[in-house]
Amino acid sequence: MTRRAGDSRLSCRPIRGTILSASRVLSALHELLGSRGLLPAEAVEERYRVDVLGQRGEAPLSVMRPADTPQLSAALALCHAAGVPVVTQGGRTGLAQGQLPQAGEIVLSTERMTAIEEIDADAATATVQAGVPLQRLQERVEPDGLMFPLDLGARGSCTLGGNIATNAGGNRVLRYGMTRELVLGLEVVLADGSVLDGCKPLLKNNTGPDLKQLFIGSEGTLGVVTRAVLRLFPLPADRAVALCAVEDFECVKALLRHVRGVLAGELTSFEVMWDSYYRRAVPLLGRPAPIAPGRAFHVLIEASGADPALLAAGVERMLAGAIEQQIVADAVLAKSGAEIAELWRVRDLAIEASRQLDPIVPFDISVPIARMGRFVTEMQAATRAVDARCDVLVFGHLADGNLHVAVHAPPDRPDSFHAIERAVYGLVGRHGGAVSPEHGIGWLKRAYLGHSRSPAEIAVMRQLKAALDPRNILNPGRILR
Ligand SMILES: Cc1cc2nc3c(=O)[nH]c(=O)nc-3n(C[C@H](O)[C@H](O)[C@H](O)COP(=O)(O)OP(=O)(O)OC[C@H]3O[C@@H](n4cnc5c(N)ncnc54)[C@H](O)[C@@H]3O)c2cc1C
Repeated sequence: MTRRAGDSRLSCRPIRGTILSASRVLSALHELLGSRGLLPAEAVEERYRVDVLGQRGEAPLSVMRPADTPQLSAALALCHAAGVPVVTQGGRTGLAQGQLPQAGEIVLSTERMTAIEEIDADAATATVQAGVPLQRLQERVEPDGLMFPLDLGARGSCTLGGNIATNAGGNRVLRYGMTRELVLGLEVVLADGSVLDGCKPLLKNNTGPDLKQLFIGSEGTLGVVTRAVLRLFPLPADRAVALCAVEDFECVKALLRHVRGVLAGELTSFEVMWDSYYRRAVPLLGRPAPIAPGRAFHVLIEASGADPALLAAGVERMLAGAIEQQIVADAVLAKSGAEIAELWRVRDLAIEASRQLDPIVPFDISVPIARMGRFVTEMQAATRAVDARCDVLVFGHLADGNLHVAVHAPPDRPDSFHAIERAVYGLVGRHGGAVSPEHGIGWLKRAYLGHSRSPAEIAVMRQLKAALDPRNILNPGRILR
């Protein structure tokens, strides 16, 4: 395939022996989508090429921005017939580089499909289009006494379609599960433009294989998510958030046991920040740190419940017990919504804190909690063995076994990037972990898929891809080479 964008002689992959001109496909798309719906190469802004970590893709042939499912379906049918590859983009906050365009691809953006079509308070469901930002749904349902429980630092920019495509996890998995658990129905457009309308608001539907599960977490490689019916939950009457300073990893594990024992089902989040993260994040707050850095770990604990008085009493009892048992060295308890937001901001500064180590090799990994303390110590040693200047920053959703890691890679040693990846993923494999608990595989982790999936599983993934996207036009090369 010719690779230069903006070249009117660009041609696409031969389909059934024909080579269709990309310029003819683009003019057909323009006719279909209009000038709001199709941006030519010269009008494509930089934002369609970069991710939040500053990684840059290639210049796309153009950006299509369909207004609804029928337009998206017709546009995909055209691309399919011509064999033009397409990369789907939601909010571009993905951390596996799957949304970055490659040479010769057209970007398919859901940014005009932003309707919250229906909130059914009785059934506790929301019907939404794929391009709705997560935070907009969260805020829309609150006045109805409801909550959409998915929550993550990129809430203002990431889209529900992107959340579904990546099966996002986030801060409340402990209590509400991953995105997969929050989707009741899904509408998906397949590579050839056909529409799978599974937007049924049914919790129970045992009528054969649950097809929507194929698309949740498949990172746009099997179909484009266009609409969804999502589960809502009663908005807890109150939330309580505490930040605890802890001296060593044994105490972190003891604190998790203690918190679970006292708060049981009310525990929503247990976020652990190693000092390597905390001391870099708190100066970014622009105000004094809630607890001065210096302890080995800081743990953000959130509980939520229907009875504010009982919840407050439970959290205070939990903190008093932890201090008395000397599991916690210091603690603060938020007294207002503003203080809750301020404590969460420490944890939400993940990207900014990680950037201080630029250039970095980012990791989203899981290891059994019992091995986590040793794993991090070994990881520090293994990366320093690659280059003594490697510096490691660690934080994560510890109760889920999930760690986020950023390793500084010395810029004068481009070879160190892959050496660091091999060292860390090798350790993940030896400790029985997973190479991607949350962010997906995308481009970034393709080489390491085999650390977490067996050859038989990968073979089935290939069969699914070939069956649903035989011309390989949807996010080609992501997840599977
Ligand atoms: C500060 C920050 C914090 C984060 N925290 C978390 C976290 O705690 N947990 C977590 O899981 N992730 C986290 N992420 C990663 C990211 O926010 C999620 O992966 C999010 O779900 C991506 O949504 P998006 O709309 O930005 O998707 P994009 O980045 O646009 O796309 C991501 C992938 O999904 C595909 N895709 C997007 N929309 C669709 C669609 N409609 N149909 C089919 N495929 C589609 C893309 O092709 C790409 O492969 C974080 C990111 C940032 C920047």
